[in-house]
Amino acid sequence: MGELSRRTVLRAGAMATAATTLGAGPASAADIGVSADAFPLSAVTLLPGPFQANTSRTHSYLLFINPDRLLHTFRLNYGLPSSATPCGGWESPTTELRGHSTGHLLTALAQAYASTGRAEFKSKGDYLVAELAKCQARAPSPGYLSAFPESFIDRVEARQPVWAPYYTLHKIMAGLLDMHTLAGNAQALTVLTGMAAWAKRRNDRLTLTQRQNMLDTEFGGMNEVLANLYQLSGNPEHLAGARHFDHAEIFDPLAANQDRLNGYHANTQIPKAIGAIREYHATGETRYRDIAVNFWNIVTRDHTYVIGGNSNGEYFKAPRRIASELSDTTCECCNSYNMLKLTRQLFRTNPQVSYVDYYERTLYNHILGAQNPQSAHGFHCYYVPLRPGGIKTYSNDYDNFTCCHGTGMESNTKYVDSIYFFSGTTLYVNLFIASELRWPGRGITVRQETRFPESPSTRLTFTGSGQTALKLRIPSWTSGVRIRVNGTNQNVPATPGTFATINRTWASGDVLELDLPMVLNREVTPDDGSVQAVKYGPIVLSGAYGTTNLSTMPTLNPASIRTTSTPLRFTATASTGPVNLLPFYAMHGQRYTVYWRIGSAAP
Ligand SMILES: [Zn+2]
Repeated sequence: MGELSRRTVLRAGAMATAATTLGAGPASAADIGVSADAFPLSAVTLLPGPFQANTSRTHSYLLFINPDRLLHTFRLNYGLPSSATPCGGWESPTTELRGHSTGHLLTALAQAYASTGRAEFKSKGDYLVAELAKCQARAPSPGYLSAFPESFIDRVEARQPVWAPYYTLHKIMAGLLDMHTLAGNAQALTVLTGMAAWAKRRNDRLTLTQRQNMLDTEFGGMNEVLANLYQLSGNPEHLAGARHFDHAEIFDPLAANQDRLNGYHANTQIPKAIGAIREYHATGETRYRDIAVNFWNIVTRDHTYVIGGNSNGEYFKAPRRIASELSDTTCECCNSYNMLKLTRQLFRTNPQVSYVDYYERTLYNHILGAQNPQSAHGFHCYYVPLRPGGIKTYSNDYDNFTCCHGTGMESNTKYVDSIYFFSGTTLYVNLFIASELRWPGRGITVRQETRFPESPSTRLTFTGSGQTALKLRIPSWTSGVRIRVNGTNQNVPATPGTFATINRTWASGDVLELDLPMVLNREVTPDDGSVQAVKYGPIVLSGAYGTTNLSTMPTLNPASIRTTSTPLRFTATASTGPVNLLPFYAMHGQRYTVYWRIGSAAP
């Protein structure tokens, strides 16, 4: 089948079930408590811009990477021959997390295939699934699939030292689920179902106390992937398996809206909250929803840096400590990858602009700028340093394979997943990213052309016809918004922090223009009023320091900030002398500062 016909088939399949899914593929049970949904990846295409450029680099990496090298440790673990060169870094044959990248690769290949319809992505994913199935078939313990022996599970159950075996299994299970739902691979569902049955058996043997003690070790999103599988299978064993991973020590205070996060490993906790909201969607039990919502509120309000990331040295600190927690190991990228996953599930549950404002902040200022644009394969940051004088460092082809290299593959193959949402015939335009939406089943195409954020506006052109209530996100950072349809000003409420609604019967050729004026603004850290970050609209500006490794935080004179002829580029005077300011997402290959000492109060 050619690309066009295959894409049509994918879209038709997704269309029939889109309202019931993660927003990404078919499912059998409707999610409870959901009032907006995403379109399938196949319905939205990126147009030229920084997100498409990032995606293209990651696609090149996915086509380049040798699957036999990623299968090497799996094959050895099952006594199968492998002559592949072992990978290095976190995939080395002696690293306890080995195998996790194979799971990320499955997800990234599935997403790349769903977005582009290119057979190379699917065939590489299909090969990985088939070879993993051969390994699983040889497991002494039916269903067990891993690149490390099952004795690692004995160790985590016995509370003996071991890195994070269930974390790794979760990545493999999530990759298999994505190969099934996004790339139509039936064998992936069989392999995943075997893994789920193995996990259920393994945990049924433990007492509740033994299980809860075991959950003190990082286990990724085991509750999420099993809840997702339950939504697909309807098998109550899968929901019971998900509940085995409800971590009471974390969930109980969150259900009571208490912030006990200080001292906890940050990225260990975020997937638990994603699991909680999916368990709410599966069961309707509001305690799960409250856990997820309270977690999101606590983290975004009291633990989040200006770029949207969290954690210092991978840990949550006391609430509202930002200026006092700047280092070379701030803002692990996985944390923001997971916070965005959580945020879009909360938006589906309660479509509020505040969720999208956070999504946009984190997408532009952390995720977009975590990939090295100088690397043809999209090498990725682990931490994003926020101390003055910090510099971004990146992964490589085969000798790094950190968690963030893996989630980087995923983030950079799914930028289309949160630009538009829908509810019935209502269309939410959440993000201002150049893209084209082909609305499945409605014959309506919406083409969004924009140079945002370099230009503070966007333009939507409609093809096809039909009544649609268009909900345009009016971000909290703007004021004086203007909306025009076919050149005529629309006098509708457009308060920042809400959606402006244009309800009309759209016709081919209709053009909607949205102006979103941006101004310079500052964000003050909660623990030191003199430590501030400078933004233009939602875009964090950073000072360019070349090879100068700052030993103290520079003082910036905010009155000295001047525009230049280049969008989003400014000059200013600091205690270090004249300094260029540029978007933090574009800051690569040199040292920088994001936070400044600024004497005056923020405007
Ligand atoms: Zn990571």
